[in-house]
Amino acid sequence: MSRLRWVWGPQLFVSMLVAVCAVYGIMTAFVQHEVLAVQAKALAVQQDAQTHIQLHMASVAALQQELASTYSWISQVNCSQQPCIALTFDDGPNAATTSQILSILEKEHVSASFFVVGSRIAGNEALLRQMYADGDEIGNHSWSHPDLTTLKPDQVRQQVAMTQSAVEAAGVPTPTLFRPPYGAVNKSVLSNIPLTVMFWNEDPQDWAANSPQQVEQAVESTTKPGGVVDMHDIYQITADSLDPIIQKLKSEHYQFVTVSQLMGLKPGQPGEYYGLKPQDFQANGE
Ligand code: ZN
Repeated sequence: MSRLRWVWGPQLFVSMLVAVCAVYGIMTAFVQHEVLAVQAKALAVQQDAQTHIQLHMASVAALQQELASTYSWISQVNCSQQPCIALTFDDGPNAATTSQILSILEKEHVSASFFVVGSRIAGNEALLRQMYADGDEIGNHSWSHPDLTTLKPDQVRQQVAMTQSAVEAAGVPTPTLFRPPYGAVNKSVLSNIPLTVMFWNEDPQDWAANSPQQVEQAVESTTKPGGVVDMHDIYQITADSLDPIIQKLKSEHYQFVTVSQLMGLKPGQPGEYYGLKPQDFQANGE
């Protein structure tokens, strides 16, 4: 009996060991298969979620871009996060050159400010409505572009008031900004202008330029964050310089704002003053 146990004992043990190993192997393979299946499922869910997030983000970005371009005139700007520049155009409107400038601004989704001469509005009312519709700001640049310091107080008030009426009659909001012709002001003139007086701090002298490239170079060499660039929408050279100027400024990550946005002015907020003190001001603009 003891010999039989010795013979059968190891054989049974080996058989059982083999059986246990086989079962263990099968179970391990099964568990591994299940684990891999679960991992594959988790990966698929993760990829699906990422695709959904990407699609969602893309649609949000597209919506933001659409809103920004459609409603740029009410969008908030933060000039401390991204450098701001305010392009301003004086002396228009002019049928040919102002409409060319407006087309470029609209194409590039760029806002600007126009200081219009009241006597030039007749026949160009649609251009003012286009400015307003595109989110550009419209300011008052007097009725007939005189040196206001040579006028009597009531004549100064008339220069402002007649242009206010002409802009209103064109169907756009009454201006809250005034830019004096030639930058010429004194205490008497300032006290008779019931609007924000807005000068400029960058003068590319486009009115004296011989080529669009000359205007481009002048803007490029003086542009700085917070700049109010003084140009004139009545010159072909100025209109032809605008697209390259915008491309250059965009490449430098400037955001284009109206002067009111730049100054943080609220609509209809008169009486503010921006610019150099009158006695320091060189009357070298148009
Ligand atoms: Zn002017």
